[in-house]
Amino acid sequence: MLSKVLTILRKISKIIAENDDQAMVLDEIVKVLAKNLDTDVCSIYVYDDEKSCLNLSATYGLNRELIGKLRLKPGEGITGAAFKTGEMINVADAEAHPKFRFVKNSGEEKYKSFLSIPLTVSGRCVGVLNLQKISEVPFTPSIADVVRSVCTQIANLIISSKMLKVLAEPDQGNAELSKVRKQVVIRGVSANGGIAMGTAVIYAKHDYFADIRIEKEAHPAKELLLFEHALKIAKKETADLSRKALSLISEADASIFDVHQLFLDDRTLIEGVRQRINEGYTVESAIKLLNDDYQQRFSRLQEQIFREKAMDLKDVLLRILKIIMSIRSGDASSEEIVADARQIVFTGELLPSDLFRMPIDRIKGIVCEKGGATAHVAILAKALNIPAILGAKDTMSNVRENDEVILDCHAENVYIRPAENVKSHFKDLIQLSAKESETDYSNEPSVTADGKEIFLRGNISLISETSLLEKYGARGIGLYRTEFLFMIREYMPSEDAQYQVYSKIFKEVKGEEVTIRVLDIGADKPLPYLNFSKEDNPVLGLRGIRVLLANRDLMKNQLRAILRAGVNGSLRILFPMISCVSEIIEAKKILAEVETELHAKDIPHSGNYKVGMMLEVPAAIFALDDFLEHVDYMSIGTNDLLQYTFAVDRGNELVSGLFNPLHPSFLRMLKFITKSFIGRPDKSLAMCGEMSANIYAAPYLVGAGIRELSMAPKSVPSVRKVIRAFTVAECENLLEKAVSLQNPEAAEWLVKEAFSRKGLKSV
Ligand code: PEP
Ligand code: MG
Repeated sequence: MLSKVLTILRKISKIIAENDDQAMVLDEIVKVLAKNLDTDVCSIYVYDDEKSCLNLSATYGLNRELIGKLRLKPGEGITGAAFKTGEMINVADAEAHPKFRFVKNSGEEKYKSFLSIPLTVSGRCVGVLNLQKISEVPFTPSIADVVRSVCTQIANLIISSKMLKVLAEPDQGNAELSKVRKQVVIRGVSANGGIAMGTAVIYAKHDYFADIRIEKEAHPAKELLLFEHALKIAKKETADLSRKALSLISEADASIFDVHQLFLDDRTLIEGVRQRINEGYTVESAIKLLNDDYQQRFSRLQEQIFREKAMDLKDVLLRILKIIMSIRSGDASSEEIVADARQIVFTGELLPSDLFRMPIDRIKGIVCEKGGATAHVAILAKALNIPAILGAKDTMSNVRENDEVILDCHAENVYIRPAENVKSHFKDLIQLSAKESETDYSNEPSVTADGKEIFLRGNISLISETSLLEKYGARGIGLYRTEFLFMIREYMPSEDAQYQVYSKIFKEVKGEEVTIRVLDIGADKPLPYLNFSKEDNPVLGLRGIRVLLANRDLMKNQLRAILRAGVNGSLRILFPMISCVSEIIEAKKILAEVETELHAKDIPHSGNYKVGMMLEVPAAIFALDDFLEHVDYMSIGTNDLLQYTFAVDRGNELVSGLFNPLHPSFLRMLKFITKSFIGRPDKSLAMCGEMSANIYAAPYLVGAGIRELSMAPKSVPSVRKVIRAFTVAECENLLEKAVSLQNPEAAEWLVKEAFSRKGLKSV
């Protein structure tokens, strides 16, 4: 059966790839399905949103003259009933079904059995697929499973063809206008769930300074007034930003915006603008001249930290410039417009530190041309609960500032200038999901069907996320990524600043386990104040533990803060990117030194913490027993482990198709890891990479013997649901089968088939 599904999926993919005409694609698909499933009829009905009816769009076996002519209302006939209820209907004798409706000239009178499956994607039903047979026996569950598993692909196809139709529709108004307004749909990889509607804001792409022509103005007094007014607004805006950022992310001190305020209050700087205005320049020209002058001066400085300041200055001057532009264009209420805007940020590339420079509270979505689902900016977007789509190629050439946009992170689509019917569809979905977010997630125990407890913990990066742990029923913290605390500052956070943050976390989790990962920087997480030298391959360079061991003061500072904060808590310390035993020995030596110093100074600190290491470098897997001599536990970081095992850059959308945790080779690797923990009740194994949140991976992980999974708190309920449906033996069985397969699609199909037997929904 598995090979049948794969064959069908492959054939459908080929049809889609080779044909542009959607009608032809559906026509070919019904033929493939009918032939491969050995059935007499296969038909596809597509829902027409405007006419509110289902249209027969393709058929193999029925009268083809009815294509485009046969229409059914939702609820009408078996097909309409399946569409309306969203449930599959499988009957041996169609005529005996209360909803049966005979269609004249269809040629269906000879067919008895009837299988009708709704075509659904992201909770939206877009059509129905029917199979019919002459024999009076219902379709077998395995045939139904096969059809169900290809239905998502067909539903996605229908959705995109609908969008293409909308795109092709001529717009009212003149040709120029229609060019400007044309809807564009771009695909990417979703980094965080959700749907966002808003206005496009292009981040750092448009150089406003470059557009300014140096001009003189006859009324310097008027220009000066304008500048003073804009300066006042800019100061208020900056103070508001700072306050809001602080209320959102308590880790942030005001340092980012302090620097901006300092610039706005800097006499030399402000006088510099005034002086140029007095010389007769327009405000815009004066600001541009001043910026050019300062950028030149900054560029002569060697220190990276000063060069960063040049960016800050540009940021601040740009803020004033934008205010001036909006006042001049008659948009005097610029403050309100900015405050009300539902901004969706579009950018080519986005670093986590860029994100913190933005008014996070106003950002309703992020679209980025580069990056994949496990890039750090994606993780941060998740932490801040901002819908985000990364790896969305060609977006920047299609989007314009202030365009209306929609992000559908479920279907991984970005709609630029969406058509009216697309907008109204998403408005409905947003209302639905608002209701969902009010749901109280049941806190059923996280046990397998035969009662084995699987600890589901939360991955967090921010204090604010601790509130989600209880909401979604996560048991404590399996991974606290401390890097963001360091990245949002302009300088190294002091031991005390760190202590405050870590202490808050312990207070919030009320006695549950707190796993604090020691700073994991380098690669895509540079620290501006650490002066990293340029590396050709930073992902294979100075990162994680390597940076820590090269910066012992930094490491000791953090360990002191962690041990102090954990004095009354259940603390686990986690070291990142360990590849050699010597690294963990050295790290523990430093930890012991810190503990001795705290002890000598009589500073209260934790004395019964556990020490662990991240398993994310393949070499460590072949020395597990050696490592186990030195640590209490290990946590598998599947994001990096996959990256290093398959040689796939986790942030590179060009190769994201190769980044698949369900690959049988990877499952074999996990099995190999867990073997070392058999008969070692004194040691524990957890997983904290994104794979933990993958519902299809859950049975395999339990089957491999992993009893602790840590993930974004929001993912806990869906993983718990899967865990509760399977026994350990069933999971072991599934894993045994999966490791004998050859490709991830097969492993995914295997688990999906098990889901459908358990009545679990696939997504
Ligand atoms: C991992 O690599 O799987 C992991 C959890 O660490 P990070 O994503 O922070 O690199
Ligand atoms: Mg990692």
